[in-house]
Amino acid sequence: MKFKKRNNFDKNELNVAKRIIQSGSLSSYVAEWGRNFYGGSEIEKLEKKFSNYFNVKYSIAVNSWTSGLICAVGALDIEPGDEILVCPWTMSASATAILHWNAIPVFVDIDPENFCIDPKEIEKKISKKTRAIMAVDIFGLSADMDKINSIAKKNNLKVISDCAQAIGAKYKKKFAGTLGDIGGFSFNHHKHIHCGEGGLLVTNDKMLAEKMRMIANHAEAVMRKRTKFPLTNMIGYNFRLTELQAGILIEQLKKLKKILKKQNILAKKLDSGLKDLIGISVPKFDRKIKTHSYYFYPIIYDKTKHTKVIPRKKLVSQLRKKGLSMITEGYTNIHLLPVFQKRKAYGSKTSFPWKLNKKKYVYKKGICPIAEKYQDEMLIGLGIMNYDFSIKDVQFIIKVFKEVWFKNFK
Ligand SMILES: *Cc1c(COP(=O)(O)O)cnc(C)c1O
Repeated sequence: MKFKKRNNFDKNELNVAKRIIQSGSLSSYVAEWGRNFYGGSEIEKLEKKFSNYFNVKYSIAVNSWTSGLICAVGALDIEPGDEILVCPWTMSASATAILHWNAIPVFVDIDPENFCIDPKEIEKKISKKTRAIMAVDIFGLSADMDKINSIAKKNNLKVISDCAQAIGAKYKKKFAGTLGDIGGFSFNHHKHIHCGEGGLLVTNDKMLAEKMRMIANHAEAVMRKRTKFPLTNMIGYNFRLTELQAGILIEQLKKLKKILKKQNILAKKLDSGLKDLIGISVPKFDRKIKTHSYYFYPIIYDKTKHTKVIPRKKLVSQLRKKGLSMITEGYTNIHLLPVFQKRKAYGSKTSFPWKLNKKKYVYKKGICPIAEKYQDEMLIGLGIMNYDFSIKDVQFIIKVFKEVWFKNFK
């Protein structure tokens, strides 16, 4: 089965690109303090549109969400050796952004139902060194932000929301990304809306916004006119987004609602088509509290529900053979990556940042049992953002699942 490739672009992006190229300038940023520190007119317009849409005070465009995460962590006045709690199910950047500032990622297992950081596990991992929680709204669903925020408040921690996969998802009527201290989105080519590569930070805190802008734009903190600016973590980068990408993103944002509506229609069909297959659980969440943006459609397969035990691998291979190219098996556990296993990040001879503390940091298998079990045996993922799926395609997916289930479990 051949599925249609996704293409979000139409004449609107084309016209914008043409207009901006014809203007003769694809970026207006300068690092020096002054009007152009904030970039050109498309960047300004983009940030305004995002602030309005997401109902936040400050939006900061950056050239990727990885860059955004580095800005976010740096802006929290992190000291080398500080710890930040993060979950194993995310993209490596959520954890490596922490290492960038010589801070130490401490992994907290995922919630078995929503696959985001489990609030029940957070407090067990808090130490005197903990400064922040990095909550990742994985697959398009918000983490349990009320519980996370209340733990953060009690322990004087900051909260960063990685909403790369959950743009437009809501939690108690507020947008994912706007419930912690800093949130943000990715616009790489896999994501709901995109501009090649890009990211955007949102916050309601003026000082955090200023610091993130500094880190993203060279942080020449010796800037002649801003000598009073605090120097903490003012190691600057060039994380600036181009005018061309900003212009395209403005068009993309207009399409977000429609894209989310479609993902929800596809997911609803999948829910009703797959939920009765024995051993399968489809995404579960409280619809009174959350909405889902379905970057990914996660299915949990429990082989013990059948008298005949068939490993996931066998089923997935059959599903793929019958044409389901969007199927994935498990999800990478970031804590098991070599950088953590070998505790090697800066150079080959030292073990920074871990050696900054006396404590022994353990990243071995077993520290996040749920995420590990799901990765090894239980998660079957449908990449429903990978193609431009139609209802017919989804009906085909369901049909193939039923055939495979019938063949194996009849
Ligand atoms: C895509 C993604 C990122 C990284 O975003 P880039 O824009 O590609 O740098 C980070 N975290 C999560 C959860 C993501 O899905």
